[in-house]
Amino acid sequence: MLCLSDSIRADAPCVQRVLCTMAEAPTLPELILAAWSLARVLARHLVEAVLAARARPPTSWPCCPQCGAGMRSKGVVKRQVLSLVGPLQWQRRVGRCPQGCATAQVAPLDDALGLPPQPRPSAELQPLGCALAVCVPVATAATWLGGASGVAVSPRAVWAWGQAAGQPAMAQLHAPWPAVAEGPLPTEDPLAAALAVAPLLMGADGVMVPLRPEGGQPRGTPAWHEGKVGVLARLGGHRTRTGHVVPRLQPRRVVAVFGDIAALQARLWCEALRQGRRHTAQVVGLSDGARGRWRLFEERLTAYATGLWDFYHAVQQRWKRAAAWLEGRTTQARRWCGWARHRLRHGQPDGVLADWADALEIEGLPDPARDTWRTG
Ligand SMILES: [Zn+2]
Repeated sequence: MLCLSDSIRADAPCVQRVLCTMAEAPTLPELILAAWSLARVLARHLVEAVLAARARPPTSWPCCPQCGAGMRSKGVVKRQVLSLVGPLQWQRRVGRCPQGCATAQVAPLDDALGLPPQPRPSAELQPLGCALAVCVPVATAATWLGGASGVAVSPRAVWAWGQAAGQPAMAQLHAPWPAVAEGPLPTEDPLAAALAVAPLLMGADGVMVPLRPEGGQPRGTPAWHEGKVGVLARLGGHRTRTGHVVPRLQPRRVVAVFGDIAALQARLWCEALRQGRRHTAQVVGLSDGARGRWRLFEERLTAYATGLWDFYHAVQQRWKRAAAWLEGRTTQARRWCGWARHRLRHGQPDGVLADWADALEIEGLPDPARDTWRTG
């Protein structure tokens, strides 16, 4: 490391100041920050050297899109880009149509590097800014990004990056799903061999989320709306240090919509395909028993999945029904619910379902759960 430090000192005098700061840093945090600055300076030199080497060979000029004549060089022009390792600068040839057409000047090296004509930050800086802005306010994201890259990043820039990345994502989200369903099937996520043969669990429920009363305005009392959430996971096993195998859900995939059950249904179906539904022997559809979610499984999953009513919602519904059936929160209702909960918990729903059917018969109501669903 000391040899490398000496060689850097001798070969690149412009990094002298950073090397001195590093050598004189009294504490470990200051030493690491100084080393980070040095790493950025070195990375910048390396990238600029590669770009200069790529700009050196003769340029292959494209034809003018208007008249078809081969473009000609108009000389060498400087290009500057803000990047994760700081501002980068290099020279490259630019060309124009020799016939004087009104086409823009071209820079073949920019095209080869995937750079847009406008002077924008380098493409790796923007996703990082967007990812940070998901977790923290944009001003904090801009500060962190500026500190890590040595480039002055404004909160407004991070906000604009988020908007630019969000528009295509929103367009994809609101794309007509029947068209997606009729298109090519989604690519399956790679899974470890042990997980690929494990049962695939799919569940759906509604959750209340607080939203701002007016879009884009931070003022006002939050308005609570129901969002629909679907969860997909494999029922895998994990061996503990004592040798016991305990069930573990992995990997977990979530789809969520702020919309109706049809919007969730299409997304859940797509995600199920991505999670290898077509090649899984056992698929389990877990539901809270609400009508919409019930219909979702009937329309999409009954052909290949076992439907389960989740224990907690089942118990909740039993208590509501028992309270109505046995005239309120009476001792008898509590006793029946305790007995029913115990039987459901231990996989013996038959007696419970028989009582349930009797109660519905007394009230003259149909029981859609009786034949289709088991409680789990
Ligand atoms: Zn031309």
